[in-house]
Amino acid sequence: MKPLICIVEDELPQAELLRYNFENQGFHTLTVGDGLEALERIEDELPDVVVLDWMLPGLSGVEICRKIRQQKEIKHIPIIMLTARGEEGDRIRGLEVGADDYVVKPYSPKELVARVRALLRRSKSVDGEEFLEYANVVMDLSAHKVTRGGEPVHLGPTEFQLLRVFLGRPTRVFSRENLLDKVWGRDVYVEDRTVDVHVGRLRKALNLVKGPELIRTIRGVGYSIDQDAQ
Ligand code: CA
Repeated sequence: MKPLICIVEDELPQAELLRYNFENQGFHTLTVGDGLEALERIEDELPDVVVLDWMLPGLSGVEICRKIRQQKEIKHIPIIMLTARGEEGDRIRGLEVGADDYVVKPYSPKELVARVRALLRRSKSVDGEEFLEYANVVMDLSAHKVTRGGEPVHLGPTEFQLLRVFLGRPTRVFSRENLLDKVWGRDVYVEDRTVDVHVGRLRKALNLVKGPELIRTIRGVGYSIDQDAQ
């Protein structure tokens, strides 16, 4: 699945150049030119990396960075800052408010893509835990096994991936679209109804072993894994 890069840059030619380079290198992109809108889009689309310009209308890059780091659902997303400011103090300030890396303008798009790849590798190794756990459910990723209260839960590959997404962020509500992107990928066409079917199977498999209900349905919005589902 192609990683999604959110490019937050108000200078259009610059944003276009970045979009072109990233897409050429096998990434999906989302470009936003305004700070306030950027924060909303990041919350909605949960990109894999944010490329963030320092000077923006609406909210500055530094403010966006700080806000991303304060929000539970998005605080894990790696951020790379674009700064026109070569002074060391400013670069350090970017890192202090939570950026993971920065490049100083003018930069080469090639270098930026390389840095984004490096960030992705790092964030994967942090996320690469072998076990995920919530309530009485334990997921052993390397052995591809799931237990609930110590009893084995038998899941098909799609249900396994769905559970992995849910357990990655317990209580967070995922829309069908989120789940489609994360489990099936952005390149295939799958009907929303398919998501419902697989979530239903996952729910059934978990309940077969032990109650109470863990998969919560939020009508018209989506699903989450939640101990208070009932
Ligand atoms: Ca700018």
